[in-house]
Amino acid sequence: MPEASYPLEPTAEQVREMLKAATDAIVEFLDSLPDAPASDLEGAEELARRLREAAPAQGAPFADLLPVIRQAAAKALDTAGPGYMAYIPAGGLFAAALADLLANSLNRYVGMWHPAPAMAQLEWNVIRWLADLFGCPLEARGVLTSGGSMANLSALLAARKARLPQDFLSGTLYVTNHTHTSVAKVAMLAGFPAPNVRVVSTTPALRMDVDALRDSIAADRAAGLRPFCVVATAGTTDTGAVDPLEDVGRVAREEDLWLHVDAAYGGFFQLTERGRAKFRGIDAADSITLDPHKGMFLPYGTGCLLARDGVALRQAHSVEEAGYLQDLATEGESQNFSDYSPELSRDFRGLRVWLPVKLHGLDAFRVALDEKLDLTRLLYEALRELRALELPWEPELSIVAFRARGGDAASRQLLEGINASRRVFLSSTVIEGRFFLRAAILSHRTHRDRVEEAVEIIRRAAERLPATT
Ligand SMILES: *Cc1c(COP(=O)(O)O)cnc(C)c1O
Repeated sequence: MPEASYPLEPTAEQVREMLKAATDAIVEFLDSLPDAPASDLEGAEELARRLREAAPAQGAPFADLLPVIRQAAAKALDTAGPGYMAYIPAGGLFAAALADLLANSLNRYVGMWHPAPAMAQLEWNVIRWLADLFGCPLEARGVLTSGGSMANLSALLAARKARLPQDFLSGTLYVTNHTHTSVAKVAMLAGFPAPNVRVVSTTPALRMDVDALRDSIAADRAAGLRPFCVVATAGTTDTGAVDPLEDVGRVAREEDLWLHVDAAYGGFFQLTERGRAKFRGIDAADSITLDPHKGMFLPYGTGCLLARDGVALRQAHSVEEAGYLQDLATEGESQNFSDYSPELSRDFRGLRVWLPVKLHGLDAFRVALDEKLDLTRLLYEALRELRALELPWEPELSIVAFRARGGDAASRQLLEGINASRRVFLSSTVIEGRFFLRAAILSHRTHRDRVEEAVEIIRRAAERLPATT
């Protein structure tokens, strides 16, 4: 048995013992995923309350702590499992977890270039790979963020710096009702009054209406405001709709607006032929938000911002070096991630993307994403056969939105019936004032068998709804 308290530097034997126990737990967890309940929140609040405690003065054996972690993880939505089709799934590749263990054990400093140039290079490779995927020029730069929200923040800061004067309060930006709420949030954080975020109407396919965008820009200019940025979405979170990127890009060019494309959910479908066709025009974007923790199946906590003009991104995020950082300064062009983001110290996110790409190869991601598009098609076609359901939009990427013909109450009941199966877990949204269920297929662990099972579960839940005329 291990000592009750470990020294801050455990012995080699203790390290091996803890890693062995953790390895066993991880293998068991991964093995259990196909049969684990898709959600298990019964008693979760109670468990959370029971876990509240003061910090212990003395340590405890790892063998006693590991079950606490496992139990806490079990009372939750199974966001790692194949039945998770709610919100935007992020399965969590094992290779990324392995990379984190290595990165945190080696603990190199990558916020700046000089302390570990070769490690920083691995992360710059990741940025370059993603920039290449979207046809960004060599002067493009980017950063890995904690997620899409932080990427959207840095994009807006870059757009503001590049297109507006110091006094920027007359600057207006353009979104739609289906733009992710993080954009309104980062606009607020960046200091813009809420009315400066203009909501452009959408077409029946829920895509940005480009004529309405033009009209809105013209009206704002006539009123003495300064339109400076348009945010297009490559895969909305609600339904996966893709804004007409070429047309929006044309307006942005003509009106000298910064074009930001929020591809947090949809971006990695660019690896597939079908995705690439939908995203035509994305290469004209001034900046692109991606969430590797969505479309690359990584664990939560990895987003990315790409900026076509690296200098614009840097100018929005760098100030003169502090004296105590002078030894770390770079001449000329900066390779410091800290010059492209609000962060100075941070974790080595690059390895979490680098290792999976090197281990599996990009083709593995391409094949998996193609499979998601096929599965979505399969689900959509099968649900269309069910007379009790209404599916107003053909899926563009990997989200199917549907509702009961019986209305909002019936749709809520339908969602409850589906989730009670504990084999799949779906979430809901409100579109144009009406309640919709959404099935988002994006986990690398979701395959045909689970989607066919989902169809059966939805069919049975729909049959239990009160009959409608
Ligand atoms: C998920 C999502 C975001 C927010 O990203 P986080 O990683 O949750 O911060 C932004 N935009 C879109 C389109 C998204 O799907």
